[in-house]
Amino acid sequence: MTAQSQSRYHRQELIAGIGRAGQQRMRDAHALVVGCGALGCAVADILARAGIGRLTIVDRDIVEVTNLQRQSLFTERDAVEGIPKAEAAKRRICEINSQVECRGWVEHVGPDNVISYASDADIILDGLDNLHTRFLLNDAAVSLGKPYLYGGAVATRGMSMPILPGEACLRCIFSEPAHLQTGETCDTAGVLMSAVVAVSAHQALQAIKWIVGANDAIDRSLWSIETWGNRENRVSLAGAKVATCSCCAKRDFEYLSGRHEDQATVLCGRGAVQVAPRGIEGTVRRIDLAKVAIMLAPHGSFGMRGGLLVGTLRGVQSPAGNAVELTIFPDGRAIIGGSIDETFARGIYDRFIGGS
Ligand SMILES: [Zn+2]
Repeated sequence: MTAQSQSRYHRQELIAGIGRAGQQRMRDAHALVVGCGALGCAVADILARAGIGRLTIVDRDIVEVTNLQRQSLFTERDAVEGIPKAEAAKRRICEINSQVECRGWVEHVGPDNVISYASDADIILDGLDNLHTRFLLNDAAVSLGKPYLYGGAVATRGMSMPILPGEACLRCIFSEPAHLQTGETCDTAGVLMSAVVAVSAHQALQAIKWIVGANDAIDRSLWSIETWGNRENRVSLAGAKVATCSCCAKRDFEYLSGRHEDQATVLCGRGAVQVAPRGIEGTVRRIDLAKVAIMLAPHGSFGMRGGLLVGTLRGVQSPAGNAVELTIFPDGRAIIGGSIDETFARGIYDRFIGGS
């Protein structure tokens, strides 16, 4: 280690639980950040500044101007260029700390690629915007015996929880995504940067404790915060491991198997993509179109037509520069018009409909 790199982390090495030995463990560690929105930016920033050795960031979206209010790795230049978030984040991380070996992948994380990303990492951090992929990460982490730091934030509140090898997993607490679903997404209900920063600080801190070997110091709780109402809550995970949990006890990795994967199908003749969410095995998921209409009202002109909710998003363009038209069915399917890009369509679905 050079004199320069020693001094760089001096203030962090002074922390009793870290020291020089902990700093070396940070340098030897590889963290995977899945999703690089507000949470992903913040945890990647903290880990890069803290001296993580390797950082892999995976995200499927591009930087938009409405991201800048809270996604701390991005600049106006990134939004004007419309470059992928994973690329922009990598560029910024390299400027912040050139000692970090940072990789950015522009991809949708699904059952087909999650294991290859996760198996190469020592720890997995959640920077996602959708519950489905969180359950997939939980499956991947449990199956590989790797720690996963769950985090989520919307509007003025958020939650964080460490899923550690051999301890309670996300599905011990929330057996299916519906139990975590609030009907809100950041695109429909908004999100306050302070709420995101609070959650990401909690996630990144537990990650650092794990990496430096301070396992006893990890906050083993489902921690939540409501920043506007000044409330904080901590539910202990002691005794929370469920003996019948289908994931960590029975090791039936439903989300890894692809059984619940949303299906994105290009409708060639229409220049559109259909996104069809899978419900619980053998059931058809139904959504309340009236509720979705209320949530979408501020984001474009939407109305009911023949039992379907139809409209065009305002202020959103497809990668080809077209307007984005949505046709939403009562069974939760949606046709995303204006693009034949499956990844873009999945992203629009999760942002505007997925919370329903
Ligand atoms: Zn479990």
